[in-house]
Amino acid sequence: MSGTTVYGAFDPLNAIADICESHGLWLHVDAAWGGGLLMSNLHRVKLQGIERAWSVTWNPHKMMGAPLQCSAILGLLKDCNQMCAEYLFQTDKHYDTSYDTGDKTIQCGRHVDVFKLWLMWKAKGSEGFESQVNKCLENAEHLFDKLKQRPDFELVFKSKPEHSNVCFWYIPPSLRNMSPGPERNRRLHEVAPKIKAKMMEQGMAMIGYQPLGDKVNFFRCVFSNPATQTEDVDYLLEEIASLGHDICIRAETDL
Ligand SMILES: *Cc1c(COP(=O)(O)O)cnc(C)c1O
Repeated sequence: MSGTTVYGAFDPLNAIADICESHGLWLHVDAAWGGGLLMSNLHRVKLQGIERAWSVTWNPHKMMGAPLQCSAILGLLKDCNQMCAEYLFQTDKHYDTSYDTGDKTIQCGRHVDVFKLWLMWKAKGSEGFESQVNKCLENAEHLFDKLKQRPDFELVFKSKPEHSNVCFWYIPPSLRNMSPGPERNRRLHEVAPKIKAKMMEQGMAMIGYQPLGDKVNFFRCVFSNPATQTEDVDYLLEEIASLGHDICIRAETDL
């Protein structure tokens, strides 16, 4: 995995590639979300070893801002999957048929997604994409720094985010002095959905939440829009805090 969906975590690809090589295993890297970091000289290091993969998936419609959908599978897939169907793709046409895209995509008659990426790349250049990606990660770091300083929020992980995912809880006043345990968890689990509902009604800002493993519902803020400014990030926190400040979470004994 290069950039998990919820945490934005990266696996150590070189170590995994060593194991795959010694056991003759196919190494596939899911870089659907994390692949965008390859555009950044600063952050590319997190995908070190990806060149040893046999196949890679990458969704430029996520980090790179390509319009939905724009997904790529890179690797030996052309050799493995090309059908060379004669009833569709004649090779004896009067022009250079290497320009025909139909047999190079798993989508056949549907849009060729990569054209959108190609046009964007032409317009923005690698530098343009790089500054876009860097900006998103700067915003994530800004949010992380803010959360660290606030007593009304709690980070899911204390370490700096690897991608632009920042995961956190809002702790309403009634839970701030509660000791950790099942009752606090039960109540905390209700906080994010309640705030999200208010966010949707308010219509000013909206981010996602989910539980994962032993962790109760927490917010997950991901940055993929480079137009987002640090003021927007600050606004988001203020908005969550003001919507969450007076929410009512009933104690188990009141249910
Ligand atoms: C979004 C995502 C996928 C799914 O990609 P689709 O193109 O929608 O199938 C797979 N893996 C990760 C890590 C993702 O973030």
